[in-house]
Amino acid sequence: MSTEHSAGRACRDLVDAVDLIDHHCHGVIIENPPRAVFEDLMTESPWPSPRGTSGWDSQVGLAIRRRCAPVLDLSPDRSPEDYLARRAELGASEVNRRLLGFARLHTLLLDTGYRGDDILDVAGMAEVSGAPTHEIVRLEAVAEQVAVTLSSGADFPDAYRAALAAATVDAVGLKSIVAYRYGLDFEAARPSEDEVAARAAAWLDEIGRTGRVRLTDPVLLRFGIWCGVDRALPLQFHVGYGDADVDLVRCNPLLMTAWLKATRESGTSVMLLHCYPYHREAGYLAQVYPHVYCDVGLAINYTGARSAAVIAESLELTPFHKALFSTDTFGLPEFYYVGALLFRQGLAETLDDWIAGGHASISDAARVAELIGNANARRVYRLS
Ligand SMILES: [Zn+2]
Repeated sequence: MSTEHSAGRACRDLVDAVDLIDHHCHGVIIENPPRAVFEDLMTESPWPSPRGTSGWDSQVGLAIRRRCAPVLDLSPDRSPEDYLARRAELGASEVNRRLLGFARLHTLLLDTGYRGDDILDVAGMAEVSGAPTHEIVRLEAVAEQVAVTLSSGADFPDAYRAALAAATVDAVGLKSIVAYRYGLDFEAARPSEDEVAARAAAWLDEIGRTGRVRLTDPVLLRFGIWCGVDRALPLQFHVGYGDADVDLVRCNPLLMTAWLKATRESGTSVMLLHCYPYHREAGYLAQVYPHVYCDVGLAINYTGARSAAVIAESLELTPFHKALFSTDTFGLPEFYYVGALLFRQGLAETLDDWIAGGHASISDAARVAELIGNANARRVYRLS
């Protein structure tokens, strides 16, 4: 017992000392949110919880109240009302500064594709977190920016390639939300230029008719993904858990198997994000395909008290040189803090178990924590 106990302390300390690179996250809100906005950002559901119930009665609600309250000088057993009142009293910039400071993140890789004037950009996030912040460019957002400037579908392929090259001059990676716009069961092959031009013409027509600019055409989505491969930057995919816009059954990463086979020797690294509840499937892909990586960010925050189990499950098959850390924070700085804290706690508990079972030594544990916490991200995203 005493060996296990001291091993437990050692793992907590060693994981605590590891630099964390958050390889997938977004900006936090600039203004203090009204309760309804805060609660909307706290859930992946676009709808409020039924009358007489509260979204705070959830793993993520518990985690925010109990873990973040002390950072705002409140005891962890205070009510959601007290928490939000204290938040308003301190003001958004102080709350952002405290929660991001306590998260102790080394570097942020920020997905800027889901923009809003109300969230901080790359420079703003670097300032409030004190961490170097690099940009991840979203493939579909660039396509939508290009489409509104064109009058002919035939111009789309070259215009898109040029815009993507310009957008990625300083970026360290790319992201696709094909899971949201179609599904991960997209065809594997690169579409022909003629096919892309024809679909682009139809899309421009639709934009002209409806005024709505939202890329959902599977051929154009696939074209964007292949242009991303050509940029030779790590390419992130939303996988698994997400809001009501996804059809979760089509977010299983095994649906991408043919495309993963087709890109194995392309030079692109494929980063499967979130993955829950398909984190075991993602682990299989990361083990078999040399260019596939995965994380369980987002799921850590939303599974709260059970996040250590999710982390342990994700490491059943995923090689240690293929797993990464992320929080997938959007909007609430609480997610940076809780995501980092639960990751550190869950990884330490997992490593403690391995040591207690005789599966690993303290130095093995230190190496695994270093790889997942930062070394894999440094290597794959070529961070200095
Ligand atoms: Zn995200």
